[in-house]
Amino acid sequence: MMSSAFVQAGPQLVNSYANNWLLKTYLERKLGPDLLASIEPELFELGELAAGRLLEAQRADRRNEPLLTQWDAWGNRVDHIEPTPLWREAERLAVRIGLTAIPYERKEGAWSRTRQFALVYLFHPVTDLYTCPLAMTDGAARALLDANNARLIAHAVPHLTSRDLAQFWTSGQWMTESTGGSDVGLSRTVAKQDPSGVWRLYGSKWFTSAATSQMALTLARPEGNGAGGGGLAMFYLETRDSQGRLNGIRIDRLKDKLGTRKVPTAELSLDGTAVELVAGATQGTRAIEPMLKITRTWNSVCAAAFMHHGLALAKDYAHRRLAFGAMLAEQPLHRETLAELEADTAGAFLLTFFLIELLGREEAGLLDEGEAALLRFLTPIVKLATGKQAVRVASETLEAFGGAGYVEDTGIPVLLRDTQVLPIWEGTTNVLSLDALLRTDAQPGLAALRLRMQAMASGAGHGEFKKSTEAATAAVEHAARWRSTTHDRAALQAGARRFAMTVARALELGLLVEHGGAMRDEIATMASREACRRLRRRGTDLIQDEEGA
Ligand SMILES: Cc1cc2nc3c(=O)[nH]c(=O)nc-3n(C[C@H](O)[C@H](O)[C@H](O)COP(=O)(O)OP(=O)(O)OC[C@H]3O[C@@H](n4cnc5c(N)ncnc54)[C@H](O)[C@@H]3O)c2cc1C
Repeated sequence: MMSSAFVQAGPQLVNSYANNWLLKTYLERKLGPDLLASIEPELFELGELAAGRLLEAQRADRRNEPLLTQWDAWGNRVDHIEPTPLWREAERLAVRIGLTAIPYERKEGAWSRTRQFALVYLFHPVTDLYTCPLAMTDGAARALLDANNARLIAHAVPHLTSRDLAQFWTSGQWMTESTGGSDVGLSRTVAKQDPSGVWRLYGSKWFTSAATSQMALTLARPEGNGAGGGGLAMFYLETRDSQGRLNGIRIDRLKDKLGTRKVPTAELSLDGTAVELVAGATQGTRAIEPMLKITRTWNSVCAAAFMHHGLALAKDYAHRRLAFGAMLAEQPLHRETLAELEADTAGAFLLTFFLIELLGREEAGLLDEGEAALLRFLTPIVKLATGKQAVRVASETLEAFGGAGYVEDTGIPVLLRDTQVLPIWEGTTNVLSLDALLRTDAQPGLAALRLRMQAMASGAGHGEFKKSTEAATAAVEHAARWRSTTHDRAALQAGARRFAMTVARALELGLLVEHGGAMRDEIATMASREACRRLRRRGTDLIQDEEGA
């Protein structure tokens, strides 16, 4: 008689909002009952979709990729990109729930960003990086508003922040050329004014994600300007005219990438592309900074969201997989492995939402000078630290499924591939470490951070929370000392990543203490304490003093 084949049950998720203790307790603590009650129905609804229909749609859509058609049957150059079915659904959903509208409607005042990013956090893991065009769209709206360009604010921002699909536009962010993505000062695209006064671009862009967008902000060098970043200007362009013809743009090819394969990332040639100056004919790298501030924040949220999503799947699977006579969830070492991932996931979440809180308060005009410097100082640090944590967590998540984690149709491997982009785009780990360390905001930003850490330490109570805040405060003090006593530029640069990681680790620890201490829910307090213990034991202070000698 044939024995019936063993069939392993796969992982399942239950409502991604209802099942996330940290997101729920964080929002309860920060928003208070009335505000939370007003937004909770949309969080439950999206949590249900994310754990059910969207997750299934993502698996069903697995083999689809965006398709570039360069020529039509009659020889016309069309350069049409057809996105995947899930991207179309993700766009409809994002517009309906207002993912780029909420921060500009400002119904929740200083908490509008928190509401927006709580939704993004649920949306991101199951929508195949549709958050990439959304991030750039949000960033473009912010950059146009900050540039105070009245025509473009009236003309483009309503599209970028619309809740009406027929009106909605996404934006690209075209900076990187083959000469450099980090060092954009090397850009070769030239802007020339034609006899009628219209600016036109000539050159190429080497990485342009979501090339399906209706508009873009880009950098180019007006003819006659000097070399370097200061000689670049920021330009606005619409990709097609009213007849749908491309605006002097050729889509040369789509990149063949390790991950983010649903994101159409194109190489473009620009030949007479009509554009408009946004904020003067120089200092474009400065003008585009508000966009980067927003896209880096989205990147951090996406990192935290991927971590939670992978861990939720792995935790569920541990209750379904039997090995050596017990479920994985009962095996001490497997539990330990998952608990380590939980600590990273919690730390990254609180770090990211701390940044979001600062951003929301800045947009509501509530930040003092020190806090504003802290926001600028932390934006690159939070992006780089969460990006690195997410890759490590994604790799362990795959392993938590054993061989199944390496098999494509489980839907698990794509998590690692897609996460791997997070430390690269929007600035690599090294480049952002240097940005945080060397910018003029570093000193006032650090000073504001030290004050914040001291306040956390004073309310820390005893036991693990006390030990953790002592470790965190000492690490920040050490980092600040190293920063102010290291004068050799090469030594400063060489230590920049350790500096940035020390700040991020210390702040994660401090925020976990703060959250755990404020909780009346015993389980949440215990979970925070457990996460503190693990992160503290792993080490917080990575500064090496000999670099300052
Ligand atoms: C999937 C994907 C989509 C993208 N989409 C877009 C897009 O839509 N728009 C856009 O403009 N760009 C986009 N990019 C480009 C991306 O932003 C750049 O690739 C990235 O910023 C790095 O630039 P680079 O490739 O020139 O690397 P390089 O600058 O050549 O970096 C190579 C290595 O050197 C290190 N490095 C560089 N300078 C220093 C230094 N001074 N000190 C120490 N280390 C250093 C970096 O950390 C990195 O490890 C995309 C990239 C990817 C992968």
